[in-house]
This record gives sequence, structure tokens and C-alpha cells, in this order.
Amino acid sequence: MKTKKVYDQLCNLYYRPEFEHCLDCGAPLVRSHTAWRKTITSMQGCAKVYNQAYHCRDQEMCGDPERVYRSIYADGLSLPYYTYGLDVIVTIGQARLRQHRTIPEIHASLSQVTPPIIISEREVQYLFDVYLLLLACSHGRCLAQYRDQIEAKGGIVLAIDGAKPEKGQPGLYIFRDALTGCRLHAAVLYSADTTSIVQELQVVAALGLPIQAVISDDEKATVAAVAQLWPDTPHGLCHTHFLKAVQKPIYEADRQLATTLRKP
Ligand SMILES: [Zn+2]
Repeated sequence: MKTKKVYDQLCNLYYRPEFEHCLDCGAPLVRSHTAWRKTITSMQGCAKVYNQAYHCRDQEMCGDPERVYRSIYADGLSLPYYTYGLDVIVTIGQARLRQHRTIPEIHASLSQVTPPIIISEREVQYLFDVYLLLLACSHGRCLAQYRDQIEAKGGIVLAIDGAKPEKGQPGLYIFRDALTGCRLHAAVLYSADTTSIVQELQVVAALGLPIQAVISDDEKATVAAVAQLWPDTPHGLCHTHFLKAVQKPIYEADRQLATTLRKP
């Protein structure tokens, strides 16, 4: 029988678009609707994530009033239709390929991390296959399918999702178009310095698509690499570090309160 997953004290995380102003006319963006909500299990815990969609406030004068803006960071937390975070997929992939651990070993270790990850062994295997697919992600094949759509939108909004290399472990960087969702390039980096990231960005630049804007986290090397290659392109930084920092004390206080209330 399939057991329903039970999540303790699931917190809600609300994400807004990284841009506050319309890329077409510069008017402020206003809330439109919830683009999606789903429960995501990441290495940091499990949360109900809401991605809030915004649109241009100036619906009459704007040249692109229909365009919907949403948090590109939230879109990058997990793959569409997956409830495990991209960081879980990367952790599994690296444990298997770099540390040569078996799937049962990885499964056991995921139940021992804090907070523990609730996952079946079969799902670990499945997510490892997804990791391999991401690595093999051939931009040529993917792009052919999306090129018309991208050209119709006037170019790409490049989102850079990087899981930084740590303690000698490589990091996975995914470069995608936030407007169409097309994955343009993926790279495994052993060092996330500016030069390495510039090299990967050049692969994206070589695709010959106009770049309307870039979104990334506020990692120094990435910010410097984007500024070096595309100094005049708007660069939105996602507020992940800020949000995580804000959420933590509230979560802790809430958890402690719950513990106190349970005491006889
Ligand atoms: Zn506008």
C-alpha cells in the first residue's frame, strides 16, 4: 500500500519575480495570480512553495501587457512535475559518480541528514537517472524545438542555477531560458571562479540568441562573469539568501513553541 507522506510543520514560502519593473515600459509590476504552488523537498527541508505571478501595472500603454513575470529562482528549485529539489538530484548524482556510493548507501544517507529526506530507494535510482539526463542535456536538440518561440519573444531571459562546488565536489550549473523553460546548457564545474563561469556563458552566447536579461543568485563570481560579458544587460538577483535568513528564526521559534506546547 502506498503510504502518504507526512510532513511536520510544513512552512509556506512565497516567491515574487526578481524584477520589480516591466522590461518593456519600466512601469512597476503588480500581482496577477499564483503561477503554481507545490510541496518541494530540498536538502534544507520540505516547504510548500508558491510562485507569485506579476504583470505590468500599465495595461493600456505598455507594449507587452500580457507578459507574466514570476520568480525564476522558484522555477529553478525543482524540475517541472518533480517534488524533489534540484539540490537533492545533484546530491544523489554526485554521491554516485564522485564518491562511488551505491544507491542503497545513498538512500540510507539521505535518511540521516538533518532534516531527513523522506524518499524511497526506487526514487533515489530514478533521480539519479534524471541527473544523468541533465548532464547529457544537449542544447542543440532542446534549442531546435524552442528556437521559434524564443525568437518570437525577442530573445532569452537567461536564468543561471548553480549548485556551487563544495569541498572538492563538483557543482552543477544549469543555464536556461526563463521565458520558454528551454535548457540551453549544463556544466559540471570543479571551480566556480569568474573565468570558469565566463567560459560557460560564452557557450550560451555562441547560440546567437539576444539576451534580454539575466537572473542568478548573488554569488560574486557569477555576478562578475555576467558584468564582464554583458555589461549593459539587466541582471536580476534572486533573494534566496535573504529569504532563507528570514525564514530560519521564525521556523526555529515555531518549532520550539510546538515542542513546549507538547510538554505535559
Ligand atoms: Zn509594461
